[in-house]
Amino acid sequence: MRVPAADLPARVRIHEVGPRDGLQNESVNVPTEVKAEFVRRLADAGLTTIEVTSFVRPEWVPQLADAEELYPQVRELHEERGISLPVLVPNARGLERALALGARRIAVFASATESFARANLNRTVDESLAMFEPVVARAKSGGHGPVHVRGYLSMCFGDPWEGPVPIARVVRVCRALLDMGCDELSLGDTIGVATPGHVLALLARLNGAGVPTDRLGVHFHDTYGQALANTLAALQHGVATVDASAGGLGGCPYAKSATGNLATEDLVWMLSGLGIDTGVDLDRLSATSAWLAKRLGRPSPSRTVRALIGAPQEESR
Ligand code: MG
Repeated sequence: MRVPAADLPARVRIHEVGPRDGLQNESVNVPTEVKAEFVRRLADAGLTTIEVTSFVRPEWVPQLADAEELYPQVRELHEERGISLPVLVPNARGLERALALGARRIAVFASATESFARANLNRTVDESLAMFEPVVARAKSGGHGPVHVRGYLSMCFGDPWEGPVPIARVVRVCRALLDMGCDELSLGDTIGVATPGHVLALLARLNGAGVPTDRLGVHFHDTYGQALANTLAALQHGVATVDASAGGLGGCPYAKSATGNLATEDLVWMLSGLGIDTGVDLDRLSATSAWLAKRLGRPSPSRTVRALIGAPQEESR
């Protein structure tokens, strides 16, 4: 039943990360053709922003080593249907590879903490920002048409090595990413430890530092069951871009848990109940996640997929 609540955005844009952030953290190697079909099915279910892959060095993330083959297989979704197909690029080389294939939305990925910057990028936070600066400048320089740049910020709430992350540190890196030209930021709770008060406190401090809410998206993980509560808090603050992964794809690499990314189906269920328009067909999306779960050999951790499709989905293989 649809029962709207006061002071929430009329429309929410879901930034679907399943094919990239989801698959990147799945151990079963997925063939390129299956990935392409997954992306097409997500589009057919009504998702309008689908992060496809990552142009990192193939040996860094073997699951996404086929970016060059995959992107051209789904590019028509952008060209013919106007669907946004962002890709991750770590450096200048990755950017050139992505631009050459026609990518017009890119994302760089920074860390709020030194430990994760070191683990993920083998750099300090400031060294990684220095690495992204020419990438963003080149993307925004024109000559290849307008390119939209998203800046991911990992470990905005807690860090597996450092514990709770001071808000001031997150604000500083957010400011730096916007100042170098990022159009949008995605605030990542990479280990899923955030709670709603922390979310609201960070958003308020960002606003206080001159970061407008309409430049912010949120990226919550459900490791501790807080992803939807945190999302609702962010919506109440005015955030209208929410990252989610179809079927909850992508376990948590920093906890012994099958539950990582917020499942898109769980998000759509809540938004639909609130009367917030997403354009997503929940039945088609759930069927897509169940279809992929069979190929991965493990059931979707999404509560909504289980409620609508049944679990475990691998039994029907
Ligand atoms: Mg994630």
